Amino acid sequence: MFKCILCCKDFDNSKKTEEHIFPESIGGNICLWEMCKNCNSHLGKNVDAPMINNFQIEAKRQLLKLSGKKGHIPNPLEDGVLSSDPSQKVKYKFKNGLPDSLYIVPNFKYRQDENGNNTIQIILDKKDEHKLPEILEKIKKRTSKNGKPVEFSNIKKFEGRDENPWMKMTKIFNLYDWQRCVIKIAYEMTYRKLGVNYLYNPIAIRIRELLKKEKIDKTDLEDAKLKGNINLANASFNISFVDDPNCLYVVFLPIDGKLICLVRIFDVFEGFIITDDTCNESFPVDGEIIKIDVINKSKEELKFIDFITQQIKLNEQESI
Ligand SMILES: [Zn+2]
Repeated sequence: MFKCILCCKDFDNSKKTEEHIFPESIGGNICLWEMCKNCNSHLGKNVDAPMINNFQIEAKRQLLKLSGKKGHIPNPLEDGVLSSDPSQKVKYKFKNGLPDSLYIVPNFKYRQDENGNNTIQIILDKKDEHKLPEILEKIKKRTSKNGKPVEFSNIKKFEGRDENPWMKMTKIFNLYDWQRCVIKIAYEMTYRKLGVNYLYNPIAIRIRELLKKEKIDKTDLEDAKLKGNINLANASFNISFVDDPNCLYVVFLPIDGKLICLVRIFDVFEGFIITDDTCNESFPVDGEIIKIDVINKSKEELKFIDFITQQIKLNEQESI
């Protein structure tokens, strides 16, 4: 038997599912198994996905070539329109993880001219010009299916040029969504450290209420009465030892009987919350740092004091 760490119901061991503490799509490689299927898919859909699909995280995933479960690497500049013609879809193509060139998405406009002839206007990116015969063939095939095959009797080509090809796009940021994902990571990492006793901790109970909701707003977050700060990286605090932009970090710091859990997601989001304010001798809590290098797919877990010693030694070598 095991107790699901979200719904706290007891399940048979055969019902265990793999919960990635940091979402797998951003390179998370630390897992828990004490979670039922329902809770796992709820967290995946309502807590992890809004973080993974965040514009800045998508940009980071493109840069670091981090694919999702289906092997897809997101393009954060995919759904724009041309500033001079909002009916024309455009996107940026990426090269080596960085935006490279604006691309005109193929566009078809069907209409009748003044003589009653049907016309098709096909707008293509210059790079796609060679695909035109293939596209015409496809249109012929498709229209012959409904018995009215199109014959192209008069093809005229025009070459246009936008002197000011700006792309416009709208992105919606929901602050609470990604703050909640950081809180989830802190909660699960604390459970991983403290074990099943942590589930009965008053802070853990409040965090679970927050995590169980489908959507959250400011009031939900306030009601959880969590102490800490979660923000864009470098906006709130800057701790020099957790600054590798390609890494995910968790740092545990026990201070004054409280356990502070710091989470950093690349150079995008960071935050800390107090996940336990009842630390005492019964909880053997040490300062600790967990670092996931998503490029090398490696994980390091060190006592905080050992990590600091390591850093000091590295700095000494550099200065020689
Ligand atoms: Zn559950």
